[in-house]
Order: sequence, then C-alpha cells, then structure tokens
Amino acid sequence: MTGRKLIMTFPVTATSHLLADYRARGGYATLDKVLHEMRPEQVTKEVAASGILGHGGAAFPAGRKWGVIKLGDGQPHYLCANADEGEPGTFKDRWILEHSPHLLLESMLIAAYALQVRHAFVYIRGEFDLPYRRLAAAVEEAYAAGYFGERILGTDFACDLVVYRGAGSYVCGEASALITSIEGRKGYPRNRPPRLTVRGLYQRPTVINNVETLANVAAIVAMGGEAFRQVGTPKSPGTQLVSISGHVQRPGVYEVEYGYPLAKFIHEDCGGGLNGTPIKCIVPGGISTKVLTAAEIETVTYDHASLTQAGSGVGSGGMVVIGEGTCMVRLLQVLLRFYHHESCGQCTPCREGMGWMHRIIDRIVDGEGRPGDIEQLIRISHANDGTTICGMGDAAGYACVGILAKYRDEFEYFIEHKRSRLDGRLEVAGVTA
Ligand code: SF4
Repeated sequence: MTGRKLIMTFPVTATSHLLADYRARGGYATLDKVLHEMRPEQVTKEVAASGILGHGGAAFPAGRKWGVIKLGDGQPHYLCANADEGEPGTFKDRWILEHSPHLLLESMLIAAYALQVRHAFVYIRGEFDLPYRRLAAAVEEAYAAGYFGERILGTDFACDLVVYRGAGSYVCGEASALITSIEGRKGYPRNRPPRLTVRGLYQRPTVINNVETLANVAAIVAMGGEAFRQVGTPKSPGTQLVSISGHVQRPGVYEVEYGYPLAKFIHEDCGGGLNGTPIKCIVPGGISTKVLTAAEIETVTYDHASLTQAGSGVGSGGMVVIGEGTCMVRLLQVLLRFYHHESCGQCTPCREGMGWMHRIIDRIVDGEGRPGDIEQLIRISHANDGTTICGMGDAAGYACVGILAKYRDEFEYFIEHKRSRLDGRLEVAGVTA
C-alpha cells in the first residue's frame, strides 16, 4: 500500500483511456454538477481550500495561482496544461495521458469554467507518441459527446481545446517558454514579472498547470477541498504520482500519499534494489533535485517538508534509484551533458557555465582532470544560482553540488588515479554499462 488514492482509482485495462470506460466509472459527472450547480468562484474556492501544490516541480499552490485571475475583467483568459514532461526520470504525466486522458479533459473543463476560459491548450511533449494519440482521440470523443464546443451540457458555457505538440526542447516545459512556443516563436523563457497569470499567452492572463495538478481538479471538486486536504500531510495535501526507474526491482508509476515513509515505498512497494543490489542513493524528484543517500532514505517521509528538510525535494515526481557500484563521476557527466545540450543560450551564466561544466567533467572522465576541478565545478554551480532567466541554470548547479557534497571522494580518486574507483562500470547485478 502506498496510502490513499485520488488518481489511480481504477484498474488500467485495454479500454481505460476510452470515453465509455471513463463514463462507466462516473466520469464527467463532476463537470455536470459544476456546470449546473456551482458558480465559477465556488470552484476556485474549493481548489484553494484543497491546498493542492503544483505537481510539475515548483510546488506553487494552484489555488493561489487561480486566484490571480480576475473574473469579468473583459479580457480573454487562457488555460494551458503543461504536458511537456521532459525532466529525465519523470514519466508520470505520460501515465495519465495514456491511461486516463478524459480525467485530464474533464478537469480542464472544470478549470476553464472556473477561470472563464474560452480557449484551452494542452502543450504536449513532441516525443510523446502513444500519449499524443490517446489524448487526440479522447479530445475527438469529448467533442463528439458535446463536452467541448458551444453550449456544453446544455449550459451557456463554451470551451474549445487545442493540442499543441512541442518539438523536443526541454526548456519548453518552462511555463513562459511554453507559451512563447504556442505563439509560434522560439521557445525562450522570459523574465518575470509580469507573471503569466497577469500577462501570459497572447499577453492575456493565463493559468498554466501541470497535467497531474489539473487531473486532481475533478477529485477536489467531487470530494470538496476540505476533504481533499485530509489526504496527505497538512503542508502537502493529496497524493503524488511517482515514476520510479533505475536500479529498482519494480519500476513503474505509483500513486503515493504524501507523508508515506520513503524507505517503505522503495524497499517494500517497489521491491528494493534491482536483483537485490544494495541502493547507493536516489534522485527523489527528477535530476534537478539533490541526491539522497541510502541512509537518508531511511529517515524521511515522502512529502515536501520532509524532503526539503533532508536537502532535496519532491520535484517532478521522477525518482531514480542508483545502485551500489554506480560511478557518480560518470553519472554527473551524463547529467551535465544533458543540461549543456538543453540550455537555450539566452543567459551567459547558463550558456557558458554549462559548457565549462561539461568540459571539466569530460576531462575528468578522460583521465585529464586537474587539481581544482572540483572547486571549479562548485564555483560555476553557485555562479548560476539565481542569475538566470529560468530555473535551469540553478537546477544544473543543484545536481552538481548535491552529488559533489556526498561523493566528493569518488571525484578526487578519479582525478588522482585517472580512472574510476569503480572502474567506470555499472556493477549492479544484471546491468553492465
Ligand atoms: Fe535559457 Fe539557461 Fe537562461 Fe533558462 S537559464 S533561459 S535555459 S539560458
């Protein structure tokens, strides 16, 4: 058991993504109730009362974000579901899109009603094939059933939805880059303020929520914000879909109630290390969160407060298990190569800093590391912190500093002996790389 469930309340079958199946489980009944019995402000009030935090990584309270939108201000408002799930190790939004796209659509309709949105968007990662096909088919079904378009369910409410496919840029998962991309321009993040809820898509107030955050809206309204708040912990209400991969016996997507013991989740629910391999550390929430050692795993619960206190975070819910025998120098090389490749190049600290970090880690792995390289990596990481337009510059620094703080001895050994203490190989039972 991983605690109570809010999203995974149904068995995944060959038909769970279809409208008929979703309706048989009570799907779209909450939308019906909302459109006929609730005022838009009441819906926003329930979402605020639920205390739900964003599930995309920043953990910003969704109710507070919605609350910025002024109803009746005479402007168009926009709603975007961020389905550009590109954080390495994270694949939980994909699960929703593949197995319950109507849950997202119903929740988006409820959100659109609350925020007086006429045109909503799903920005979906370009590499997603099955999730895109499932979502596009669900949108067609929903239009045919009268859930989108004019006079939805016989009311005055009207809403159209556009599914917009990305083109493979990690940075387009950042909210301001995402809207720039929808507008047909290069997906560059932009400086804030103004916030996107004030001036977003087409310069109009825009709410951008992560897929999982939005997918919770139907449950929040159905059960009531206060009841939702009883699930999880006071500071982290609800549940989190956790995608777990790496050197773990039972990888997959699990719904975990906040406050659940992390060690129990990894060792019991997920079966522990792959083929019995001891766990060296984990990345708890996507590669932008700092690693937790095996000992630290035993002391925390899975929620924002506990993970933050341990020096890391829930992040995007993408957990990666790293088995004993993994060379952390090579692991950091993979991460820094990713960040360098994905930097959009607007900010000097990120553009140049990523390049320098990448070159330094490459030369260490090539046996040409120099004394002072570790300090240099730390210095560049700190130089990025808070000096860039979007969070990617910070994120690369967190990953780097997090690994160096706990596994510095491996880097020192590599520089001095020109090879990994682990010979540069993954020695997890059953895996060689
Ligand atoms: Fe682009 Fe990096 Fe600046 Fe973000 S921090 S805007 S990815 S250059």
